[in-house]
Amino acid sequence: MPELPEVETTVRGLARILDGARLARVVTRREGLRRPFPADLVQVLTGALVTGLGRRAKYGLVHTDRGQTMVFHLGMSGRWRIEPEDLGLHDHLILETGAGQRLALCDPRRFGSVDLVASDSLEQWPQFAVLGPEPIGAALTPAHLKAALAGRTASIKLMLLDQRIVAGLGNIYVCEALFRAGIDPRKAAGKVSGAALVRLVPAIQAVIAEAIAAGGSTLRDYAQPDGELGYFSKQFDVYGREGEPCVRCSGTIARIVQGGRSTWFCPRCQK
Ligand SMILES: [Zn+2]
Repeated sequence: MPELPEVETTVRGLARILDGARLARVVTRREGLRRPFPADLVQVLTGALVTGLGRRAKYGLVHTDRGQTMVFHLGMSGRWRIEPEDLGLHDHLILETGAGQRLALCDPRRFGSVDLVASDSLEQWPQFAVLGPEPIGAALTPAHLKAALAGRTASIKLMLLDQRIVAGLGNIYVCEALFRAGIDPRKAAGKVSGAALVRLVPAIQAVIAEAIAAGGSTLRDYAQPDGELGYFSKQFDVYGREGEPCVRCSGTIARIVQGGRSTWFCPRCQK
């Protein structure tokens, strides 16, 4: 499943082709993904000038001069194919620029989505209105976490997966950030000390920034025909490493299940 760093890398890759481009041809090849494509998607986008790209949580944003932004989500299996040589069964939306470059949104499982949202009221779009601050940037602060977690008895692990508290932070990065900050994932969120929250914010920002940098280092491949945007491999300290030695101490990485999802952590380093 693409996480926030993959979405950010995808947006940066798409920007190289789409930013400032005119969409000469837009084709939908089925009714939709998780939900139907907007009925006016082709009409709105055809001939539109792309005025910029962006990201909010795990959504990619393609702003146009039509006052509408195309908002896409990659779901479980979505990716953008760059200059595909052949179109396949799972290439559901095709964009062609005036310069003749072609992009295909490929999503075999169709858990992704494509929407049109008025550009001047993006923050009021229901999916965005409920989101907490982005994990990277100035909005996420220890003070925000302290206020949002005050009195909460659910574990810090589960609270950090709550999009209302931090937007777009997935299971991988919550595990990694808690390890770096030395916080026990089982601890009640409201009981995490102010000092630990001061360590947690830069830990979150570092794990995300490092993953984006890792994705960026593979971006040059996307310039090739038949390149793909959406996935890259990463190295983790704890995620997926049950039974392996801790990189910081002589302990062993453990795995537990919280809220139906695995948490990997070092019981010695994380208190
Ligand atoms: Zn350890």
